[in-house]
Amino acid sequence: MTKDVLETVVNWIKDANKIVVLTGVELSAESGVPDFSDPKFNPHINDFRASRDVRAQYWKKIKEIYPSLANAQPNPAHEALVGLEMIGKLDCLFTQTTDGLHHRAGQSTVIELHSTMLWVTCTNCGKDYPIDRILGVLEKGKDVPECEECGGDILKPPISFPGQPPPHWEVREAWMMLHNCDLFLIIGASLDTQPVSSLPTLAKERGAKVVIISERESQADDYVDAVIYGKPSQVLPYLLKRVKEGIEVS
Ligand SMILES: [Zn+2]
Repeated sequence: MTKDVLETVVNWIKDANKIVVLTGVELSAESGVPDFSDPKFNPHINDFRASRDVRAQYWKKIKEIYPSLANAQPNPAHEALVGLEMIGKLDCLFTQTTDGLHHRAGQSTVIELHSTMLWVTCTNCGKDYPIDRILGVLEKGKDVPECEECGGDILKPPISFPGQPPPHWEVREAWMMLHNCDLFLIIGASLDTQPVSSLPTLAKERGAKVVIISERESQADDYVDAVIYGKPSQVLPYLLKRVKEGIEVS
């Protein structure tokens, strides 16, 4: 992470009229939350529907890892993004995270591309439950939760399991927002899978500058306008501070 790249990005943020942000699992990881959309946590949807044993195993695993989600707090990266929004420098935030920490930090325009782990939906009748309530039921000795409304026992968080399509509305919304933005910041996100992997190209085709902020290298690094290698929780507060200085001076 060189000073020059940081200063260039500070200037782009200052000059931009519409900034769209995509965040990902590096933000969750810095708050100690695992990536719940990782296939290792999620069975194939057909197996989940067909087998009560698969559902019991799934809920057992969620019960074990849920405390890391319940106790997680927003980190300085989440807070800096709220700061950018407060000074009118953030138009819309898309996230691959499912932990609700952007909301908890106070961000107002959040679109969750992979939905959320904080709710559970009955796949039969569509009734939603807060996940704490479902886990409370499991504490009382049940291995698989049942719907209070219809009695069905195929309940799951609305995140996509393997074999399910990604949420359509959210992805469409991301495309729409990128058509109008002039700066696209990709922060700690994974660009490995479609449809998200095509978003940087789309933004560039529409004339936006694209910046990646991440601890890891990715294939997209070669064709975006700038890459800042570092922890989002360290890079973002610095960028916000520098952008705010610019605003105070002008
Ligand atoms: Zn139901």
